[in-house]
Amino acid sequence: MEENLEKKLMRKKESGWFTTDDERFKQIFEFCDGYMKFLNISKTEREFAFNAKKVAEENGFRDINTIQTLTEGEKVYYLNREKSLYLAVIGKEPLERGLHIIGSHIDSPRLDLKPNPLYEDSELAYFNTHYYGGIKKYQWTTIPLSIHGVIIKANGEKITVNIGEDENDPIFTITDLLPHLAKDQASKRLNEAIEGKNLNILVGSIPVLDKSVREKVKLNTLKILNEKYGITEDDFVSSELELVPSFKARSLGFDYAMVAAYGQDDKLCSYSALRALMEINNPEKTAVCILTDKEEIGSVGNTGMKSHVFDYFISELLNKKGENRPSLLEKVFCNSKMLSADVDGGFDPVYSNVFDIYNSSRLSKGIILNKYTGVRGKSGASDANAEYVAWVRNLFEENNIKYQLSELGEVDVGGGGTIAYMLANKGVDVIDCGAAVLSMHAPYEVASKFDIYEAFRAYKAFYEKN
Ligand code: MN
Ligand code: MN
Repeated sequence: MEENLEKKLMRKKESGWFTTDDERFKQIFEFCDGYMKFLNISKTEREFAFNAKKVAEENGFRDINTIQTLTEGEKVYYLNREKSLYLAVIGKEPLERGLHIIGSHIDSPRLDLKPNPLYEDSELAYFNTHYYGGIKKYQWTTIPLSIHGVIIKANGEKITVNIGEDENDPIFTITDLLPHLAKDQASKRLNEAIEGKNLNILVGSIPVLDKSVREKVKLNTLKILNEKYGITEDDFVSSELELVPSFKARSLGFDYAMVAAYGQDDKLCSYSALRALMEINNPEKTAVCILTDKEEIGSVGNTGMKSHVFDYFISELLNKKGENRPSLLEKVFCNSKMLSADVDGGFDPVYSNVFDIYNSSRLSKGIILNKYTGVRGKSGASDANAEYVAWVRNLFEENNIKYQLSELGEVDVGGGGTIAYMLANKGVDVIDCGAAVLSMHAPYEVASKFDIYEAFRAYKAFYEKN
C-alpha cells in the first residue's frame, strides 16, 4: 500500500491546538482578552451597537448620513435605531460587481420587563418579565441578573440603565423552590417545571413607613427609582429594559483555552467580523459587515434582518458613489457573496446521542461551514450551492484556515436556521459560517479560543479576497 495513502485521502480532523505555534498562541489569547472585555460591556444589542460604532469611529469610519459622495477606500456605517449597525469599506471595483458581506446578530436570549412590570406580593417587590428568544427557563432562576436598557420619558428624555455589573451595584434574581418542598415540581417535565409566567425578578423588600399606603414595598421601590432615574411608574411604558446574567466573561479550564460568557451567540461572530473589517483597507470588493438585531425572535421588525433598512443602506452606498441606474440594487445582491456568521451547537460528549458524530462541529477544530440549515426534510433551509461552497473552501485552504463542515444535530431531533435565507432570497450567494458553542442559549455559553480567533482570520480572508 502507498505509504501516505491516509494522509493523501482522508480529511485531517485533529484539534487546531495541534498546529498552533507559539506566535499564533499569543495572538489567539490576546484577541480573546479583547473579546472578553468587549463582551463585558456589550451584553445587549444597544450596548453592542454603541460600542461597535465607537470601535469603527476610532478606525476611521464615518456616519454615512454625514457624507455626500463616496469614493473607494472610504469607511462608513449606518446605525439603525441604536440596535443594529451596518458598516462598509468601499472597494476598488464598482458596487454592481458584488459585495463581500458578513452578517451576524447582536441580540441574545434574555428576559425583558413587561410594560407594567412592578408589583408587590407578600411585602416583596417584583418585576414581571417576558422571555426573549429560545431559553430553557430553569437556567434563569437563582443566578445574578443585571438590568440593562433605556427608559424614554414622554418628553423624549432618554435614561440609560445599567445596574448589576459594577461590584458595588445590587443584582437581581429569580427565586426557586427549595428541594425539600419540590417533590411535585421535581416530577414535572423539564420545560414545565419553571413556567414563563413565574420568571419574576425579586427587586426589593423595604416598605415606606406610611401605614396608610397599601403597597408599601412597591412604593418604596418607585421612590428609589425616582431618586435614581427621575422616573415614575408610567415611564416603564416607554422603556426597553432587559435582564441579562451579571456574570463576567472568564477564561475556562486549567489551560485557559475556552471562554465562558453570556451572549456568545452571536457576539462571538459579531465581534470577530467587526474586528476583521477594522483591518481592511482598499479592498477589491466592497466589504460589508451586518450587525443585526432580533435574530433570536425571527429577524422581524425594523431592526431585524427581514426589514428593508439594510437595502436602504446599500442604496445609499450606490447613490453616494454615483452608481445609480434602475434596478441596480438587485444586481448588486445577485453578484454578492456572504458569510452568514452565526454560532453552531457544538458536539457535546455528555449528550452525544442528539448529534451525528460524523457531521457535528467540534470545539477547537476551526471555523464551521453549515452548507444547509433547516428542520426535518431541510424545511426552511438555506442551502448553499456546491459551487459557492467550493469557492469558500478554496479561500480557507489558500489561507491555511482550519475549517469543518457540519449540520446542527442528528436528523429529526430538531434544527434551526439564521439570517442566511433572507439574503439568499435577494440573490446573494450565502453560507452559514461560525464557531462551535456549548450550552448555546444558556446564561453562560462556552466556546474555544482557537475557534474565536480562527473565525476572525476566516472573516478577514473573506473580505480580502477578490
Ligand atoms: Mn445565533
Ligand atoms: Mn440563537
